[in-house]
Amino acid sequence: MDCIFCKIIAGEIPCAKVFEDETVLCFKDIQPSAPIHYLIIPKMHISAASEITSENSAVVARIFEVAAEIARNEGISDYRVITNCGEDACQSVFHLHFHFVAGTKLGWGKDFAR
Ligand code: AMP
Ligand code: ZN
Repeated sequence: MDCIFCKIIAGEIPCAKVFEDETVLCFKDIQPSAPIHYLIIPKMHISAASEITSENSAVVARIFEVAAEIARNEGISDYRVITNCGEDACQSVFHLHFHFVAGTKLGWGKDFAR
């Protein structure tokens, strides 16, 4: 499958790894929109949030646990976790991912920190 995030998971494309366990991987976004901008992804290929079902949703809970663990470990109290679903919502990589953004006062609106 021609999926850039599956290739990162497989180690075929390098990444700046922040955290990894058997179900999720967290790495730095290559084009950060905020001083801290990580991506947290399931190792299982799910193309978008619209493909979350009762069969695979446990990984989403794990992603939010990992976000909280990373924040605690890095002393980050305030952060945003977002996922874009579909091209009109600015999804550009079709492997489910959650943006973890922090490190500045985030606005709310079109340019808040992608
Ligand atoms: P989205 O536009 O919500 O689908 O987010 C995709 C994100 O993946 C963007 O913020 C990109 O900067 C990021 N990205 C794309 N390729 C890479 C890569 N090889 N390593 C790290 N981040 C990437
Ligand atoms: Zn994938």
